Amino acid sequence: MNKAVFLDRDGVIIHNRSQYVRAWDEVSIYPFASKALGRLSKSEYKLIILTNQSAVGRGLMPIESVNTINANLVKVINQNGGRIDDIYLCPHAPEAECSCRKPLPGMILDAQRDHKLDLANSWLIGDASSDLQAGHNAGVGNLILVQTGRGRKQLVLLNSQPLPYPFHVSPNLWMAVKSILS
Ligand SMILES: [Mg+2]
Ligand SMILES: [Zn+2]
Repeated sequence: MNKAVFLDRDGVIIHNRSQYVRAWDEVSIYPFASKALGRLSKSEYKLIILTNQSAVGRGLMPIESVNTINANLVKVINQNGGRIDDIYLCPHAPEAECSCRKPLPGMILDAQRDHKLDLANSWLIGDASSDLQAGHNAGVGNLILVQTGRGRKQLVLLNSQPLPYPFHVSPNLWMAVKSILS
């Protein structure tokens, strides 16, 4: 069985935008992301991106644009010595009541099946409570909330409405990767 590091995209690898990241020229990769993913790529972990892209379901962007952004992002990561083993995306609006939109565990369970993953010994890195919840709901053993993207505000929220299970807090993806590999 393989272990994985599940990565949220927006707010973890690239900057969030208030009205969604809808085109490649709106993508801004965090300066530490390439180094972090490069280091992680030399480890035993599978690297899997999980991303809610409800802008598609809301009719704000075509799925092709999401796929182009993701393909370009992977290309840049590869050029910087990193690797992404798979990307799972939920294109649905919340009203669609799909089973893949985080905090639901659908994308992680699909990845588990596709990549034969040992979820209990895997990690998830996200900038939102919904990321942590998806991880917990799927049985991912180790959860990290980074303080980039929505992370700071989400931590304030989580301090007033705690989750009934533990998670780590890390300043950013690079520090999160260092703690996983230490
Ligand atoms: Mg995010
Ligand atoms: Zn979905």
